[in-house]
Amino acid sequence: MIPVKSYAAHSAASPIAPFSFDRREVGDHDVLIDIQFCGVCHSDIHQARNEWGGSIFPMVPGHEIVGKISNVGSAVTKFKVGDVAGVGVFVDSCRECASCREGLEQYCDKGMVGTYNGYDKGGQITYGGYSSKIVVDENYTLHISDKLSLAAVAPLLCAGITTYSPIMHWKMGKGHKVGVLGLGGLGHMAVKFAVSLGSEVTVLSTSKSKEADAKRLGAHHFAFTSDEQVLKSLKNNFDFIIDTVSAPHDMNLYIGMLRREGTIVVVGLPSIPAPISNFGLIGGRRQIGGSMIGGIKETQEMLDYCTEHNIVSDIELINIKDINTAYERMIKNDVKYRFVIDMATF
Ligand code: NAP
Ligand code: ZN
Ligand code: ZN
Repeated sequence: MIPVKSYAAHSAASPIAPFSFDRREVGDHDVLIDIQFCGVCHSDIHQARNEWGGSIFPMVPGHEIVGKISNVGSAVTKFKVGDVAGVGVFVDSCRECASCREGLEQYCDKGMVGTYNGYDKGGQITYGGYSSKIVVDENYTLHISDKLSLAAVAPLLCAGITTYSPIMHWKMGKGHKVGVLGLGGLGHMAVKFAVSLGSEVTVLSTSKSKEADAKRLGAHHFAFTSDEQVLKSLKNNFDFIIDTVSAPHDMNLYIGMLRREGTIVVVGLPSIPAPISNFGLIGGRRQIGGSMIGGIKETQEMLDYCTEHNIVSDIELINIKDINTAYERMIKNDVKYRFVIDMATF
């Protein structure tokens, strides 16, 4: 067994605190990654506080993992010791269903194996990236270029792919007006990708103070959504809205901003289902879609796209000891625009 230092939630009400456990030995198809950086996703907070239900404790959160490979199993062909590697939201899946065969492992019929807050095929609890090391099957491990800042690459493993995938799936690009609802970890990556792929982008935000940042990130427009006049002026305006909001909010307001046949894509996961007005949908033949992270193939494509276009996350690097303060700041919408834990601070 491989001893590992980590930080864990021991219950939904307790702060994240030091925890030690053992990883499995490196199997034939596994790689061992010495974790250097791990991003902090709002899903970490939802799950550590059991906001979605069914949380497994103790829980070591973290699914935006970047580090160096320090050991490989005898059958590993894709990685070698010393490579920079990444791990995202899942570490296994059934590998047999139609989705797995199409490289859409996130939609596995039998359910993907989450990087944390799940059980692996041997029935052991999976523990995530707020830890010093992780053992992962090479088929669920990503190649990372060392040309970019590794700390700023970490959030691409969840916030990046979660916004890149729907932009590619719905072919958002030149000639489209795209609204990005919520400027946090996912939102700021959605802005970068949508701008890079040629859309006219508007940030829809409850934080007036984020206007300058939105423009700096490349957004063409900024709309403060607490202003009635601003809301009225945006009626029938967008081809697409990417909804990244983590807390309950009135989606009908934003559905009314879609043009005829426009689509709102939900990626944010508030714990309470949203009430949707049928009238808002039928008037304009509008659509609601949802999207969850991306498969291994698309995640690698996204990472390669980022290397080619010099796209990384805007981050605040933190000491692991400050993780609870980081959670509190995220809940107050005060994150610029992703916290990343520096594992050297363990
Ligand atoms: P985050 O960094 O905390 O950003 C969320 C943003 O939503 C905030 O910065 C804020 O932006 C806005 N917001 C928060 N409360 C709001 C409210 N009551 N009304 C309107 N806007 C509000 O969170 P994140 O890490 O980007 O994650 C966002 C959501 O996506 C979470 O629910 C997370 O679980 C989910 N998620 C889903 C997937 C997937 O596969 N679909 C993957 C990762 C995460 P403004 O200040 O600009 O208003
Ligand atoms: Zn995430
Ligand atoms: Zn499957």
